[in-house]
Amino acid sequence: MRGVIIHGAKDLRIEEVTPRQLGPRDVRVRIEAGGICGSDLHYYHHGGFGTVRLKQPMALGHEIAGTVEAVGSDVAQVSRGMRVAVNPSQPCQACRYCRAGQHHQCLDMRFMGSAMRYPHVQGGFRETVEIDEAQAVPIAPTMSMAEAAMGEPLAVCLHAARQAGSLLGARVLVTGCGPIGALAVVVARLGGAVEIAATDISDYPLSLAARLGASRTINIAEDPQGLEPYAHDKGTFDVLFEASGNEAALRGALEVLRPGGIVVQLGLGRDMSLPINMIVAKELQIRGTFRFDEEFRLAVELMGKGLVDVKPLLTETVPFERATEAFELASDRGRAIKVQLAF
Ligand code: ZN
Repeated sequence: MRGVIIHGAKDLRIEEVTPRQLGPRDVRVRIEAGGICGSDLHYYHHGGFGTVRLKQPMALGHEIAGTVEAVGSDVAQVSRGMRVAVNPSQPCQACRYCRAGQHHQCLDMRFMGSAMRYPHVQGGFRETVEIDEAQAVPIAPTMSMAEAAMGEPLAVCLHAARQAGSLLGARVLVTGCGPIGALAVVVARLGGAVEIAATDISDYPLSLAARLGASRTINIAEDPQGLEPYAHDKGTFDVLFEASGNEAALRGALEVLRPGGIVVQLGLGRDMSLPINMIVAKELQIRGTFRFDEEFRLAVELMGKGLVDVKPLLTETVPFERATEAFELASDRGRAIKVQLAF
């Protein structure tokens, strides 16, 4: 069994990996599709992000889907041959946050392809993975494996939307139209937003955002004053989904949020300095959002019922043996939005 293993910055190798013995509640999934996420790219380019550093070789990947190949003796919910989306989170179910229903804040989370804990939790870019039965979410027969592998990023955006509260009739701004920003557009549309403006510094992701439901797209690099029409009356947007992690993008967006407006910060990056006087005077509310909990099942159900279509995002598929090429492609937003590996 082979996997896509990161050894350090720019050092991605296809290597033989030994499958783990199945426990009574474990499921072995033959992986078919795996999406490359921003955090995978951070490991690839920098060997980690923030204070998180690679300390040992690790299989990357946490947006995966495949077919159940074998099940442990006590597994009851899934069976051999089932097509599943894999939820990469495995909370401990015992800590204070798990007991309070905030599994995504678990004190002992095992999240696939993350170097946050040591030994690292191996990721899903492998021909087969062993997971707990609870992580295997069956998909509708109409769904492709590529769509199923979008369950994770869609869940991230559904969780973000819940931080914002009701979007019915809201005027929404999305800054940064990579996969997460694009899915924020999708979720804002689903939530009943009456207007969705989207900004980016590249035309290609903006054209995709328009296809997904953005009512107005602005290339902020070519048109730095593009948000000015929204600045009157102290600002006009009710909600901002900030998906770029860029300080200038956030600052520009704060100018066009109405008093009492809500910022949901999805983008991660360097620490930022913010115009605190404006935040105070306009009573803006800045809200974080981290991963997801039961939104994963909701994401799979929404796609399965045809209520959300993520197919326009699936721009490139590359055989996993050419992972380095795929990671370079995924790093170039002028050419690709969501790059998936095929196994
Ligand atoms: Zn826990």
